[in-house]
Amino acid sequence: MTDYLLNSVPDSIVLRDLASHDHRQKDADALLIAHIAVVDERRLYLGLGYSSMLEYCVAQLNHTEDSALKRIRVGRAARRHPALFVAIAEGRLHLSGALLLAPHLTPDNALDLIAAASRQSKLAIERLLAERFPRPDFATCIAPELSGNKVAPGPPVPSESQAPGVSTGPLSSHSRATPLSPGRVGWQTTVDDETQELLDEFQSLISHSAPTAGMAELLKRALTIAVTHEKKRRFAVGAKGRSRVVAAKGRDIPDSLLREVYVRDGGCCTFTGPNGHRCGSRRKLEVDHKTPVALGGATTLDNLRLLCRAHNRFEAERVFGKEHMQRAVELAQRERAKEQVAAQAGAERAAERAAERETAPSGPRDEALQQLHDDVVAALRALGYNEQQSLGGAKVADENPKATLEECVKLALGPLSRKVRHRGAMRAKSST
Ligand SMILES: [Zn+2]
Repeated sequence: MTDYLLNSVPDSIVLRDLASHDHRQKDADALLIAHIAVVDERRLYLGLGYSSMLEYCVAQLNHTEDSALKRIRVGRAARRHPALFVAIAEGRLHLSGALLLAPHLTPDNALDLIAAASRQSKLAIERLLAERFPRPDFATCIAPELSGNKVAPGPPVPSESQAPGVSTGPLSSHSRATPLSPGRVGWQTTVDDETQELLDEFQSLISHSAPTAGMAELLKRALTIAVTHEKKRRFAVGAKGRSRVVAAKGRDIPDSLLREVYVRDGGCCTFTGPNGHRCGSRRKLEVDHKTPVALGGATTLDNLRLLCRAHNRFEAERVFGKEHMQRAVELAQRERAKEQVAAQAGAERAAERAAERETAPSGPRDEALQQLHDDVVAALRALGYNEQQSLGGAKVADENPKATLEECVKLALGPLSRKVRHRGAMRAKSST
């Protein structure tokens, strides 16, 4: 067994070994970040039943949230600027320094910035960045105190651009929840005036039944109402036997079935990895057809399940192909970005559009629905379908206004690929 107390080891040997372990540790740190970055980029955590890289690092690797977030962010930056890996491995740059540099690195300045930050303390790197990338002074403001308790500002959260569909989860927040004793959690957050007014109004509204409700009681009552409302709105839990008609295409899910799925699945993602780890995420839940409707899947309890958005997309990629879905979604997103730039640049065009919206006979079309429709057309065009096919396929967006882009593309691909297969079969038949 390793003697960790080292009581019998002479001073000179302890010092020599410390330097040696430190050297190896820095190399191992760089390799650890490199592996995290690849798992993150390839989204390998999804197949193992985790909805985000952060969740995988915390739950599977037992990293703290802070260190996991740092490694993920540094890893993403280092994939773009591999000199960061080298600087960490050689012990020239610590993780905190790399994290500070990350948002400022460009192909032009990366080597220079990393060299300037080498062997510098965190404070020195902060000063270096303040010199090269000066920021405006903080605005002087006096925040109103809530219930007499002074609210300290939350820790700064380093900005980053996340890869699409890759979420680090709910943990990067300015609010803090600290367990204080069994059953008690301390909250620390900052609210704006509007929130304060809402709290005051809510307190007045419930003053008959709870005349002395304090902040904790107010929050509990407000959240109970909010959770009940959202569960009813999204999954029909608690809704009175209202039953929507099941559309011919089978996409609409009757409330009673929606409720059954939600209750059966425990209100969380059911995706389970090969090692038996169930995702269990309660964030961005979607109801998924195990066998997609486009491939003939029925809207039945057996064929429905709750999945988080990340796993829903993962499953769609498994069925329709990763490149296929990725390309469709990315191209659609690029198209959307291009349209936004064009819309901003052309004031004349925007005015024209506004005029068009005002004169539309049936009132302005819902912008989100129009956007969804346009994105589906763009995705189908990107996949090689002609304009007529794409416009036809995009009708699914109009029929399923609550569906996501991925769901609409999945739905549209079914009939389109059946037609292609049919035509292919006809061609094969006619050529024999
Ligand atoms: Zn999930």
